[in-house]
Amino acid sequence: MATIGVLALQGAVREHARVLTSLGADVRLIKRRDDLDGIDGVVLPGGESTTIGMLLEEYEIAPRLRSGELPIFGTCAGMILMADEIDGSDQPRLGVMRIGVRRNAFGRQRESFEEAIGGAPVAGEPLRGVFIRAPYVTDVGPGVEVLGRVDGKIVLCRQGQFLAASFHPELTDDRRLHRYFLEEIVLRAPHLA
Ligand code: GLN
Repeated sequence: MATIGVLALQGAVREHARVLTSLGADVRLIKRRDDLDGIDGVVLPGGESTTIGMLLEEYEIAPRLRSGELPIFGTCAGMILMADEIDGSDQPRLGVMRIGVRRNAFGRQRESFEEAIGGAPVAGEPLRGVFIRAPYVTDVGPGVEVLGRVDGKIVLCRQGQFLAASFHPELTDDRRLHRYFLEEIVLRAPHLA
């Protein structure tokens, strides 16, 4: 199996670690640059994207994540950090995906909700997402596949080895999206395939 690093600077870290471990991955918490050595993929958890973005630079983790050598799965704030455009904000980011996002995009009426996601690449029941002050994707560039929508808004997308979700799959007991990341992205990476 693979070794997955969960970025552990701030945010919903333990829940991701628990899901990944239950799927058979070895999990390592990433707190500084050298923790990335020997890792096969990285999860960027939700939290506060401005804070996480600053800490990624301060601890010199950002350049290696930006280099494209590692598969990355970003959830909520993690999605925001992966976007190359953030509506109305110049906050620090990785910018590895050709997507534009809007923060807290569902508005005050829908600060926190759970909803079925249309079109997600999983078999069986629709995937359900927990959304907490969630972003959505406003623009996608070349090479970006849209994998899920809620209210017609893009909430799940993939660009090669990069997967981004607006919601928190680690807060439900549905492990299918983590499994998709492991099986369809990480384990197919050239050095593991
Ligand atoms: N609203 C947060 C942000 O903009 C993201 C919220 C989350 O990760 N649950 O960074």
